[in-house]
Amino acid sequence: MNEFDLIAKYFSRKSSRGDVLLGVGDDAAVVSVPENQRLVAAVDTIVEGVHFLADADAADVGYRALAVNLSDMAAMGATPAWMTLSLSLPRADEAWLAKFAEGLYQLADRYNVALIGGDTVRGSLSITVQILGLIEKDRWLTRSGAEVGDTIFVSGSPGEAAAGLAVIQRSLPSTDEAKHLIHRFLRPDARVELGRTIRMLASAAIDISDGLLSDLGHICEMSRCGAHLDLEALPILSALRATFDASECERLALNGGDDYELLFTVAPDRLLAVEAAIASGVRCTPIGRIVEGAGVTCYRGGEAVRIEPRGYDHFS
Ligand code: ADP
Ligand code: MG
Repeated sequence: MNEFDLIAKYFSRKSSRGDVLLGVGDDAAVVSVPENQRLVAAVDTIVEGVHFLADADAADVGYRALAVNLSDMAAMGATPAWMTLSLSLPRADEAWLAKFAEGLYQLADRYNVALIGGDTVRGSLSITVQILGLIEKDRWLTRSGAEVGDTIFVSGSPGEAAAGLAVIQRSLPSTDEAKHLIHRFLRPDARVELGRTIRMLASAAIDISDGLLSDLGHICEMSRCGAHLDLEALPILSALRATFDASECERLALNGGDDYELLFTVAPDRLLAVEAAIASGVRCTPIGRIVEGAGVTCYRGGEAVRIEPRGYDHFS
């Protein structure tokens, strides 16, 4: 199968979106952006051996390639709309491509995201998805809006994805809890609905891709403030607790990557509104507050404890 057959067979599915004026097949795609909205763009690359295991299931890889991008839309409060796909493949393996496309479209359909173009080359296995989304004028969330006195929230149960990877790498027993953790690693849930819900209410937001401590550090830097994190408030849910001891649970929750949970801050006069708005969705937990100064300080039993952020850095 040649490059053009491959694109025609796996990546030319018509989308139902009426705003795609020109999709796959021309030199570029054209979409229509509503007048009162802004275009929000992000791109993420995943590389075999770095972001997914060399023997990963192709459907999981397709799913992840989009999920990590949806998470960036979630952190902005944006609604994802279109994507482009740049694929570098060692060979045209049809069985792999069919599964990859299945995983990718599964998530794309769930969020009504249209694939509008891309590029296909031969090389080592790497996948780049560029996501384009929409948001109302002046409504996007940033990392820089946190202020002293704001409460810090985290969604879901941070650390579970890294725990799932540890379960795979250490071949831990396949309990129900271990299976749940593996699923959280292989099929990350971007918090798109939560991002939409908090877009008018949160002061700052970021998605946790590198680890809670390190990503909270980004909010602090960009907002020119510090953060107090209450270690005892960390939501360490039963699957994690059943599989790892307490100190490892804490380490995973603080430094584990790949969670794609949202970390956001809320001003005191918005707290009640936020709590009401998020009550019906994914669980969110207050874990600390924004303070004067710089950097993240962790507290246990009222005492400050030193914990180094060990978020993932490709070049460290
Ligand atoms: P060009 O030479 O102009 O870059 P290509 O031959 O690379 O065009 O691509 C032909 C068409 O197929 C373009 O519309 C491009 O956007 C689309 N395309 C190529 N690869 C992919 C892919 N992996 N997924 C979706 N669309 C793709
Ligand atoms: Mg091309």
